Amino acid sequence: MWNENEKMVFVPYRRPRQVCALVLALYKDALIAIIAGFHASRHSLAAHGILMEDAKPQNFIQQIIAKDLDQGVVKSVVTRFPPEPNGYLHIGHAKSICLNFGLASQFGGRCNLRFDDTNPEKEEDEYVRAIEADVNWLGFQWSGDVHYASDYFPQLYDWAVHLVNTGKAYVCELSAEDTRLYRGTLTEPGKNSPYRERPLAENLQLLEKMRNGEIEEGKMTLRAKIDMAAANINLRDPVLYRIKRKAHHRTGDAWNIYPSYDFAHGQGDALEGVTHSICTLEFEDHRPLYEWFLDNLPVPAKPRQYEFGRLNLNYTVTSKRKLRQLVDEEHVDGWDDPRMPTLSGLRRRGVPPEAIRHFCDSLAVAKTDGTVDMAQFEHFIRDDLNNNAHRAMCVLHPLKVVLTNVAEGQVEMLGAPAHPNRDDLGDRALPFTREIYIDSNDFSEDTSLSRKKFKRLVLGEWVRLRSAYVIRADEVVKDANGEILYLNASIVPDTVGENPPEGINPRGVIHWVSASQCVDCEVRLYDRLFSEPSPGAAGRDFLDDINPASLTILTGCKGEIGLGNADHSRHYQFEREGYFYLDSRYSSADKPVFNETIGLKDNWAKG
Ligand code: ATP
Ligand code: MG
Repeated sequence: MWNENEKMVFVPYRRPRQVCALVLALYKDALIAIIAGFHASRHSLAAHGILMEDAKPQNFIQQIIAKDLDQGVVKSVVTRFPPEPNGYLHIGHAKSICLNFGLASQFGGRCNLRFDDTNPEKEEDEYVRAIEADVNWLGFQWSGDVHYASDYFPQLYDWAVHLVNTGKAYVCELSAEDTRLYRGTLTEPGKNSPYRERPLAENLQLLEKMRNGEIEEGKMTLRAKIDMAAANINLRDPVLYRIKRKAHHRTGDAWNIYPSYDFAHGQGDALEGVTHSICTLEFEDHRPLYEWFLDNLPVPAKPRQYEFGRLNLNYTVTSKRKLRQLVDEEHVDGWDDPRMPTLSGLRRRGVPPEAIRHFCDSLAVAKTDGTVDMAQFEHFIRDDLNNNAHRAMCVLHPLKVVLTNVAEGQVEMLGAPAHPNRDDLGDRALPFTREIYIDSNDFSEDTSLSRKKFKRLVLGEWVRLRSAYVIRADEVVKDANGEILYLNASIVPDTVGENPPEGINPRGVIHWVSASQCVDCEVRLYDRLFSEPSPGAAGRDFLDDINPASLTILTGCKGEIGLGNADHSRHYQFEREGYFYLDSRYSSADKPVFNETIGLKDNWAKG
């Protein structure tokens, strides 16, 4: 990164290799000792059959797994990521993905992808495909085939019959409203349903009828017979099956009844041999029910459920319902709008998957929900892009400059490294011509501006063009309305990579592109989607907190010639502007569109 405070003495670029060699020579022994110690600790863990990826302190789930493996409670670890295909994945899901897949890989186990598709009303194949793509993009591969809760519908139905046969489930005819009234409250016990003691044979018959589509929606449910006075409301005869006369995205019209989340989840875990079923805190109160099913059904395994705190980020929302509303009401241009906290939005914006993984790894896995500062996420994005983004120049508000002492038609090929300390990224060509563009914000006619305040081009003074010549602004050419048309300027000869002669003191360094050899492009600048840290707080509608200036479209931008070859394998730092990435929706062959991924500095921190 460089900026206008850069020292004026132009030092030809030198790679920092020699510096590294020096440091290595000086500290070789100390480094060897550190590496040896690290290997020793890895070996003692490896002796327990656990391969740790690093020596960081372990979170509580890692500690549980390490102990279970050590004590032979489980032979190997199996986790799963269980999204409901009713929307796109968001940054909160990334925490769960990194945790589940991360634990499996850290402890040499496996992680399944299982769609929790028990509700035909909101679930679609579009979401299934998008979720698979997002998990892969984030850098994870599930073990074997994709699983679906709907794969287990026949088995779950058999288990429902099993509960009826063992007197632990009954068909209830209370309306939804009455079911709620009978359930009681946190402070009062519930009341038994009048259908609770229905004879076994009748229960079997009615369940069969529900399944065959002979009963109207809402008329009956299958409920577990547990305890209407249980302190935990989830144990007050929870619903196992509801009638829904809806086609399912995978099973079509095969079923007229669908299992509840609770009746499907633990059994799905058991069928897949999941050992550690990790979910968010809102399921903590469901754990006794999860265990009740496992204890009362002939399941092939006994998984255990553990809960951790959800990830919430300020200045955004991580609720699929709210994200869907933003899409449906066209506040954004789709689930993958670059302002959305969805993984597809972040991808389109140019956030590298590595940055998301590093961010998720930095988060506490705790027993409390928390809100993480957006700036923490942005830190990981900048960190990754600073190391990996190709440098380029792009003029966002072009002002033409005619260099009167450069011959017409002349093209001088200048160059610059694609990255200041990454040899492997190569060099870039910068054709230098008589007409160039600079940013109109980098020029002022006001000659009284102090050098300290305005380190850019002022009439009659000099600046260095990045990786090129020192120039002087000689004349401003205006139209009849007094609008600036272009500048006449002149180069100081022999200043590419060299200091200018005594007496010529450039005010700063600015970026530029050749006017005849550049790429016309559009640049989309983004601000946060919400202007309030917690959208919708204090009884406001979250939509009222949308930042009206979250998108600025700049047409007519001029990029350096190499940007014509931009593709999705490459992230860019537009020098002095920020990090940018080719947009996947609006770019065309002759006009690339670049999304601003993030600015160079955190502008919000300043308040
Ligand atoms: P939403 O509230 O956005 O609709 P959800 O929990 O209903 O999310 P699922 O598709 O059921 O979405 O979530 C799949 C997995 O991801 C679950 O295990 C869930 O606990 C986890 N998850 C969802 N949101 C978060 C979050 N904000 N932080 C961490 N994990 C999450
Ligand atoms: Mg859910």
